[in-house]
Amino acid sequence: MHRSRNPVFDRLRVLTHALNESRLMFRDRATLERHQSRLAAEQLRWVAVHSSYTAQRFRQAGLSVGQWRQLPPISKAEMMANFDTLNTAGVTLAEVLDVARRAEASRDFSPGLPGNLTVGLSSGTSGSQGAFLVSRAERLQWAGAVLRHLLPDWPAGLLRRQRVAFVLRAEGQLYRSVGSSRLHFEFLDLLRPVDELAERLTAARPTLLIGPPSVLRALLNAGATAYPERVVSVAEVLEDADRTALQAGFGPVVEVYQATEGLLALPCPHGHLHLNEAHVHFDFEALGNGYVQPVLTDLRRRAQPMIRHRLNDLLVLADGCTCGQAARRVVQIAGRQDDALNLPSASGTRLTIWPDFVRGALNRVASLCEYRAEQVGAATLHLQLDPDAPALREAAGHEIGAAFTRLGVGDIELTFGPLLADLPGAKRRRVVRSWH
Ligand SMILES: [Zn+2]
Repeated sequence: MHRSRNPVFDRLRVLTHALNESRLMFRDRATLERHQSRLAAEQLRWVAVHSSYTAQRFRQAGLSVGQWRQLPPISKAEMMANFDTLNTAGVTLAEVLDVARRAEASRDFSPGLPGNLTVGLSSGTSGSQGAFLVSRAERLQWAGAVLRHLLPDWPAGLLRRQRVAFVLRAEGQLYRSVGSSRLHFEFLDLLRPVDELAERLTAARPTLLIGPPSVLRALLNAGATAYPERVVSVAEVLEDADRTALQAGFGPVVEVYQATEGLLALPCPHGHLHLNEAHVHFDFEALGNGYVQPVLTDLRRRAQPMIRHRLNDLLVLADGCTCGQAARRVVQIAGRQDDALNLPSASGTRLTIWPDFVRGALNRVASLCEYRAEQVGAATLHLQLDPDAPALREAAGHEIGAAFTRLGVGDIELTFGPLLADLPGAKRRRVVRSWH
């Protein structure tokens, strides 16, 4: 029924992908774009035949498959609403959610979906949770790309013993599938209690440590010791305070830009983040002030095709890099657009305030350890502070007030309270809008 899960075969596949990846780090923009066009033609042809929802999008827009770049983008909500006919694995959303929730509850990933599929759930903003199917072949390709870009000292690093620790949620099989004495992958489930995780991390003695920054920082605070050659931040926006703490506690930090929608950008040896353009095609919608929103088309993934999918992230981009790679650079991940605040302006209109500005203001408050800023009303911002002391409330109010005045925000009400704990496994979101 299932193809055999042969660890040696898997490890070879991962290494092959990693070695191939070197050929895909284009130094010339025109060559990169030719590579993308070739993959896109093949991918779109296949997807239009196997994903009836995608075929329907083309019909409704009156476009041929060759005109895919004009296809109107879809959002995560539309993707989820059409999940059953969008995916090419023949599974329904109800089945997928059932498997994913049982796996999360029991921590047993073996009763998977047919065809060696795994499912990831994204935390939903506005109450909508996303489900993402990944096939075994796609997981091995992902691991190869991560290995190629992040293993210290490539390719010489391959010849040394490497222990890679992943601290991630509910991914299961992928991380177990690529273990050997020379290249060992350790999976630490971030839903386990922090003290237990910290002990396991210490025992794992990773040479490469990969996980969400808020969780890695919690492990550090819980007493985990590790001296990896590299710490890789994934799944959340890496903020300066976390970077500094992780760097001091564990070692040099690099950032991968990954969402459940895909592996979106990887760091180069010169410390910059490059879009993963060898595998994902990006168009961008300008939102003003240099901010753009990606519309992505994954050129590889087929279990759940991502074709002209609008990502709710806000980026600042740049061309060119001293490393010589042609893939564009992400200079800044300014936040999830869903979390942008919507506040009254001084002149009575509404203003969009990006999370980054709020973070910038609160990062200036000395001795504030952690916070959460939540827009709870049309003109009300609730600040949870840790520690929650009168002097910090005053300083936070002052910084927010100064930033909002600069941005032209009108009268708003600030309320304060102590920081409440995140739900276990929830993505850390420091700036949130719950008012709609
Ligand atoms: Zn570079």
